[in-house]
Amino acid sequence: MLDDCGRRIDYLRISITDRCNLRCVYCMPEGGVSTLRHSDILSYEEIVRLTGLLTRLGVRHLRVTGGEPMARRGCLDLVRRLHETGGVETIAMTTNALLLRGRVAEARAAGLDALNISLDTVDPATYAAMTRGGRVEDVLSVIDDAVSLGMRVKVNAVPVRGMNDHQLAALAALARDREIHVRFIELMPVGCGAGLSPVPSDEVLARMEAAFGPLAPDTSRHGFGPARYVRPEGFAGSIGVISPMSHEFCDTCNRVRLTADGYLKLCLNHQAGLDVRALLREGADDDVLLEALRAAIARKPARHGFLEEIGDREERRMNEIGG
Ligand code: SAM
Ligand code: SF4
Repeated sequence: MLDDCGRRIDYLRISITDRCNLRCVYCMPEGGVSTLRHSDILSYEEIVRLTGLLTRLGVRHLRVTGGEPMARRGCLDLVRRLHETGGVETIAMTTNALLLRGRVAEARAAGLDALNISLDTVDPATYAAMTRGGRVEDVLSVIDDAVSLGMRVKVNAVPVRGMNDHQLAALAALARDREIHVRFIELMPVGCGAGLSPVPSDEVLARMEAAFGPLAPDTSRHGFGPARYVRPEGFAGSIGVISPMSHEFCDTCNRVRLTADGYLKLCLNHQAGLDVRALLREGADDDVLLEALRAAIARKPARHGFLEEIGDREERRMNEIGG
């Protein structure tokens, strides 16, 4: 469907848990966070039902995220059930990949088309420090398994000044021999990211050019999001930047988000949305739900407004929203 700004909304990000096996510095506090109770989060039945309704409103592409989606039991069963939902064309997962080690073939068989793997550095010590405990070799093994099974793989990295900013070229070099896309996402001032220092995308691109020489724009489409891609000479894959802060892309935003506790979020930075869980658990029938979803999506905010005063700024952390 089109929202009131005329944007086609065909992409749904579904967060299935706020829990995680890591504590990335820009996402979660070191001591962990109070987690939702199991009864607070949507059941897989509720998620499948809502997704079915949203496909009737035009959603075609799904992304399962979290928290760490693989940390919720039965995550791959959910993928299989979503895959069987009529109207769904692609299903991707955003994951730190650690719990996928040895399970990529199972994920592929469940119907997962693509993986976005969060990896901020290939340096083992920096990775362990930024994630507060992760093992980088586990992530690299999942990347290679997924590539060899023909899945579309993107690596998502958040450059943070003083942490991994001097290791970005080594990470991008993963795309030299692999047909994968390594994307650098500007740190957003949300949750734990608020106190850290971002590296603007233009600076990342300048570093890539210094390391790899001239960067040809790569205009082939790699998914449904707002990344801009370049391809250095001799690279099998490409390098991307996603610049929510320095190059706002709200005009072409195509997505809505479902939080683990069943809130339909219309924009990353706004609280505006719809408490779908309340409707579901009050016993709303499909027609009532469809009308409420349609009316909410129509009101999607025009812009994220990260850099200005807005009345309903989001206060949840990224692990609660799903990125
Ligand atoms: N646990 C999974 C993972 O890490 O891929 C999925 C959830 S995580 C919240 C989704 C994405 O949000 C990750 O790629 C992470 O790097 C990103 N993220 C978390 N906090 C962020 C922030 N403050 N600014 C930009 N990206 C952030
Ligand atoms: Fe966990 Fe992902 Fe947040 Fe890292 S970014 S703490 S892996 S939810």
